[in-house]
Amino acid sequence: MKEIGQQNWDKRPLIISGPCSAETEFQTLQTATRLAATGKVDFLRAGIWKPRTKPGMFEGIGTEALYWLAQAKALTGLPLTIEVATAKHVEEALKFNIDMLWIGARTTANPFSVQEIADALYGVKIPVLIKNPVNADLELWCGGIERLHKAGLEQVGMIHRGFSSYGNNEYRNAPMWQLPIEMKRRFPGMLLICDPSHICGRRDILQEVAQKSIDLDFDGLMIESHIDPDNAWSDAKQQITPEEFAAMLDNLIWRKQSSQEKEILNTLAMLREQINHIDDELLTLLGQRMKIADKIGAFKKDTDITILQTSRWNEILQRAAKKSEALGLSKEFITRYFDAVHLESINHQNKMMNNF
Ligand code: PEP
Ligand code: MN
Repeated sequence: MKEIGQQNWDKRPLIISGPCSAETEFQTLQTATRLAATGKVDFLRAGIWKPRTKPGMFEGIGTEALYWLAQAKALTGLPLTIEVATAKHVEEALKFNIDMLWIGARTTANPFSVQEIADALYGVKIPVLIKNPVNADLELWCGGIERLHKAGLEQVGMIHRGFSSYGNNEYRNAPMWQLPIEMKRRFPGMLLICDPSHICGRRDILQEVAQKSIDLDFDGLMIESHIDPDNAWSDAKQQITPEEFAAMLDNLIWRKQSSQEKEILNTLAMLREQINHIDDELLTLLGQRMKIADKIGAFKKDTDITILQTSRWNEILQRAAKKSEALGLSKEFITRYFDAVHLESINHQNKMMNNF
């Protein structure tokens, strides 16, 4: 079995940094040297082949940049990690003794590609990290891990980089923390690190997202850094300088609990995440309920009937009272809750009827 990249894999927290893309020899070597000077990096990352959403954007330097990375390693001693998306990439990476590989989010979403990579790695001993798929599909993420395990890879880890969605959001990729938490439950003990750069898509909230992942007991971070972030050829808005990266790490609080306390915190975080998830669903449902109230309002206006229909209101309360007992909800709470919902519903109908 061919062995590469056994250096630093077991270090916790595992810290990876480097540019989104290797752009020039100067930029690659400078970033590596300045990162190494911080003394805070376990692996140097750099994109060699870049999966871009649209053609015509910078798609990576390709093999030539692997020479620069080899130089960077010789200069700094930092082990290297790059993204691979095809069997050809794997072949090139192995030729250049890259120490660890990662599979990108777009690739994880495609089982053909993950299988191709797994086949190309058969019989090689190298750590491989797999990012979550772009879409919020845990099974695809699990499937990718299984494919790598089946190819005989023992050092497999996960990178949480958030999930894409339509429209402008606070995050470039929504973290949906309950998903990595569920992966932790399914693969206890497996390395799980966070990639705040691709979750945030911007610098100002990197620190807060990194801290959140630490509080959820992630095992490390991958953060993009660049000597001249604003002029980066890819992902300019989210990159930071090596020195800013070091300052950020200094400001993070790595909580050191005894294992028992750690377990308590994990359980609490997991339960709270479930509550957040349910609250989000409840709010969505309430929004939907009020949209129906709007429709009823418009209908009542057209047919000229009053908003308040006492018999219907009694029916709602009776239905709720019957259900709530079995659900362990007190009558007092249910009454208060439905009063509030009913009032909001009346307000919505009022708006529809009277156009205010
Ligand atoms: C990257 O790490 O630069 C990258 C392309 O990330 P992702 O696969 O998460 O989009
Ligand atoms: Mn990037």
